[in-house]
Amino acid sequence: MVVIEPSYQRVLDEVYDDVLPVIGQGVVATSIHALAQVDPARFGIALATPAGEVFGAGEFQAPFSIQSIAKVFSFGLVLAADDQIWKRIGHEPSADPYNSLVQLERHRGIPRNPFLNAGALVTADRLLGLTGDAVAELLGFVRGESGNHSVIVDRAVAASELANCHRNAALAHLIADFGNLDHPVHVVLEQYVAQCALAMSCADVALAARFLANGGLRSNGSRLMPPADVKRLNATMLVCGMYDRAGEAAYRFGLPAKSGIGGGIVAVVPGRCVLCVWSPGLDASGNSVAGVAALESFSARTGWSVF
Ligand code: GLN
Repeated sequence: MVVIEPSYQRVLDEVYDDVLPVIGQGVVATSIHALAQVDPARFGIALATPAGEVFGAGEFQAPFSIQSIAKVFSFGLVLAADDQIWKRIGHEPSADPYNSLVQLERHRGIPRNPFLNAGALVTADRLLGLTGDAVAELLGFVRGESGNHSVIVDRAVAASELANCHRNAALAHLIADFGNLDHPVHVVLEQYVAQCALAMSCADVALAARFLANGGLRSNGSRLMPPADVKRLNATMLVCGMYDRAGEAAYRFGLPAKSGIGGGIVAVVPGRCVLCVWSPGLDASGNSVAGVAALESFSARTGWSVF
């Protein structure tokens, strides 16, 4: 049934009921040792309106490791300051996994999009150049937008990733070899893993991403970026944000979204709201099984998508 003006709380409660049978399906990411211990059967979903109202179901206030969701915030901050970044990072989807080296060699060190690890490494490098401390900039942004000043970088998760980051190091070295990094590889890697290790709740993420639903306005009403740039950012999320299953995600729920291997997904309903769902059991591409199911249920129940 299509709901025109939904009661958000009721819809989220129904979505939670819909996905109960799939919560716990999938496998927890093991590439970062500190994340391998998380229970795959956890679940939370939050919805934030542009005005900052929050609705939620399940463990929507529990912090989780946002991992690749950080790519949306860091790229947003870079794009807001420098729209020439598109010369260093493309905006085409990739049918390869998020940490693949294959296309990077072929494209001579220009990552195919900002939501692959390669793209996020160039983003971290540029944000570092713009601000002197990409992690502090990002932390300040998500704390300010979410209103939660206890958001932290989980240093144990960052250290755990840094201790085993051969593939990201290989990507960074290849990018540097093609001249697309301004800073030393080890500095960029440290910044990158720290960004991925942000611990935030579904409510925090949904609130912090409101600029995507709000035409580029920050929570205090000031402009982060022009509407045309938000359109480009949302379009890039739609075609690139769910790894090599972006087509499947567009087919199932039709919203710009970004996934992280911590089991979180942020999704944008332009002009209406931002959703964040978290459940650590992942499918083979690294997307949360219950998270995708929840977004599909939300879209079906509300009739909302960008199509
Ligand atoms: N930090 C993770 C990595 O670099 C992020 C990957 C992800 O969430 N897709 O592998």
